Amino acid sequence: MASARLDLDGNLIKPITICMIGAGGFIGSHLCEKLMMETPHKVLAVDVYSDKITSLLEPSTLPWADRIQFHRLNIKNDSRLEGLIRMADLTINLAAICTPADYNTRPLDTIYSNFIDALPVVKYCSENGKRLIHFSTCEIYGKTIGSFLPKDSPLRQDPSYYVLKEDASPCIFGSIEKQRWSYACAKQLIERLIYAEGAENGLDFTIVRPFNWIGPRMDFIPGIDGPSEGVPRVLACFSNNLLRREPLKLVDGGQSERTFIYIKDAIEAVLLMIENPARANGQIFNVGNPNNEVTVRQLAEMMTLVYSKISGEAPLDTPTIDVSSKEFYGEGYDDSDKRIPDMTIINRQLGWNPKTSLWDLLESTLTYQHRTYAEAIKKATSKPAAN
Ligand code: NAD
Ligand code: UDP
Repeated sequence: MASARLDLDGNLIKPITICMIGAGGFIGSHLCEKLMMETPHKVLAVDVYSDKITSLLEPSTLPWADRIQFHRLNIKNDSRLEGLIRMADLTINLAAICTPADYNTRPLDTIYSNFIDALPVVKYCSENGKRLIHFSTCEIYGKTIGSFLPKDSPLRQDPSYYVLKEDASPCIFGSIEKQRWSYACAKQLIERLIYAEGAENGLDFTIVRPFNWIGPRMDFIPGIDGPSEGVPRVLACFSNNLLRREPLKLVDGGQSERTFIYIKDAIEAVLLMIENPARANGQIFNVGNPNNEVTVRQLAEMMTLVYSKISGEAPLDTPTIDVSSKEFYGEGYDDSDKRIPDMTIINRQLGWNPKTSLWDLLESTLTYQHRTYAEAIKKATSKPAAN
């Protein structure tokens, strides 16, 4: 079965051991699932939480039980980290604070998590001659060049002013008071450090820049499997509103644009990187779906339609409301205006393309959200309020 799998150059893929840091998160849970179900590789899964991968860890009779081990540890302060990296052939670092509501309200935690805490991981890989796949973000591009042109400038239609290209686009952040950019800036510096380790010390690295990967198990539903006052990323915010039959909140008019990609398409790209080191080492890859671009307002409208179809409930008379970013996120918020990934490099190196349309990915994701949360929300909202 899996042992006869070939890489893109026709070579036999040898089973490897992967130290996956942040394996218990959204992307980590999908990557662990893929690796267990479709490959012979072993995973040393590192995280402080394991809820999203419980079904892969228990019971011990699962066919892959001897290929996945969970290590509950915080990489900030645990001396076991270097040992785990040394035991593995490849380290994948996913650990991060990566919800925008935190960037301007917890900028110190954000910078420490995305830069300082990632430093030992890079150092241990470099010193021990281990390969590293590091998760960065599309946010390191910041704002597009086009966003600085006059609103009516015809150049705004020219892709060279907005398509984001790994080896050519600049990184354009707001001023220091706009603490939103603390995350992007920390991710940019760790990318530069990894790149320099490659250039000066021969580290074999791949950097991944995800463009709004979405799907089941992303973030949490406030008050159900996360804090009531917590603000997750947009998919979970809008899912929460739909499940509770509340209007979806459009920040600053919902005019920002995003390209959304289905997590399962994106995981295919990561697997190609894992199994084709000669093609992936030394590369920075955009991973997104340029065909799935919408404004946040259009996303809200589409999610409302899809959810109505799935739940059988008619949409609200007023399905969306506008809210200012200051009210929603607090002081220091700012936004990326538009995020379209250039796909030249990933196409050339790995021959990868995304497949799933926005409508289809929302249908499968909202079916999951409905199945997982609708009952729990009904119960929570029917409880009499505490005195
Ligand atoms: P996530 O929050 O679901 O997963 C991150 C995981 O890392 C969590 O399970 C968390 O517990 C763990 N973690 C954080 N700090 C840790 C620590 N000190 N020690 C041990 N574990 C720790 O996020 P995700 O969406 O899966 O994102 C994974 C990576 O991809 C992040 O680096 C993020 O910046 C990047 N990324 C994701 C997207 C996306 O579309 N989902 C977009 C851009 C960038
Ligand atoms: N957003 C919104 N309503 C919400 C949550 C988010 O209008 O309830 C907007 C947010 O301002 C941003 C976009 O949706 O323009 C995407 O936000 P997300 O948190 O998913 O992360 P980002 O793509 O900015 O990294």
